[in-house]
Amino acid sequence: MKGKKSIKCEFDLIDLIRRKHQILNRDIIAGIGDDAAVFAIDQTRAGLLTIDTLVDKIHFDLSYTSFVDLGHKALAANLSDIAAMGGKPVLAVVSITIPRGITIEDVEKIYAGMGRRAKKYGVAICGGDTVAGRELSLTMAVYGEGRKNNIGLRSGAKAGDAVLVTGSLGGAQAGLEILKSKTNPSTTLRARNQNTKLFKKHLRPEPRVKEAQLLASKFKLNGMIDISDGLASELHHLARESRVGVVIDQGALPVADEAIAVAHILKNDPIEYCLYGGEEYELLFTLPVKKAVEARIILSRAGTPCSIIGQVVKGSGVRMLGRDLKPVTMPDRGYRHF
Ligand code: ADP
Ligand code: MG
Repeated sequence: MKGKKSIKCEFDLIDLIRRKHQILNRDIIAGIGDDAAVFAIDQTRAGLLTIDTLVDKIHFDLSYTSFVDLGHKALAANLSDIAAMGGKPVLAVVSITIPRGITIEDVEKIYAGMGRRAKKYGVAICGGDTVAGRELSLTMAVYGEGRKNNIGLRSGAKAGDAVLVTGSLGGAQAGLEILKSKTNPSTTLRARNQNTKLFKKHLRPEPRVKEAQLLASKFKLNGMIDISDGLASELHHLARESRVGVVIDQGALPVADEAIAVAHILKNDPIEYCLYGGEEYELLFTLPVKKAVEARIILSRAGTPCSIIGQVVKGSGVRMLGRDLKPVTMPDRGYRHF
């Protein structure tokens, strides 16, 4: 390895690929750096393309993730990225790496999980690839479409905008903490039946596809991203890509009830779950203040709670106002792959 550099950070590596190896053409509206690649189809429509991989023992643990959950999760992650652009998912392809020991029934269960989600959102699953390998892994790519002049970009946040987030945060981490703390499969299953709501957020995340389309139909979208690596990490992405700063009000964070309950039992801080817990698949977006108030009302009438958690400001970085209203820099950490 002498003279060769090891990979320490996923984001630094992606940045290097973006600077040195990205190939764009005239039709590309957004390339590396957003939730999906965006290209111009014609005068009015944009095509969206995103891909995501789940690897055994890295992204899921079969001692508490069922094959149905796994299929569900693989599609949900991609649908969430299409939602984060304000788009509508259209079709998906699946590549599956199958190790020894995985049966036809297991694979069918994975597809049953995917199929349920696909039907719910009108997505076709119509292609893929099948290979043998050492670890079970599932890669899905989803194609979607949006209006060319109204794509929610990570680079779209403007100073003066309000920062909004759908749903509540910290619930997925709370579910994961409980699942991790009970690695014995039989107790896990028992606990799972007792705590379905808690585990649902981690094992069966619901992407905000309908909410994204509602927002895109009513508003000119500014900044938008989904929460896959944690709120703090996504706020930093938004701030960096938009070349602005963000100030968050800790008191306005929609901390999930389950996060408060689990953090209490495990003697953790629920705010930590809320800021740094991954796989929430909520939408984080920015709109001018008046529109933000309208968006909150429209989404809650449609059954999805939405909170205004802060403001976009000139400058850079992400700060949080604590109880004493003193701004504290929010560390850029979240789920890291390396
Ligand atoms: P998300 O969490 O929304 O799925 P990622 O953090 O996985 O996004 O990726 C961030 C950006 O980097 C995306 O635009 C993605 O397409 C791009 N990206 C990630 N890995 C690679 C790669 N190996 N080559 C090119 N682009 C990549
Ligand atoms: Mg994303």
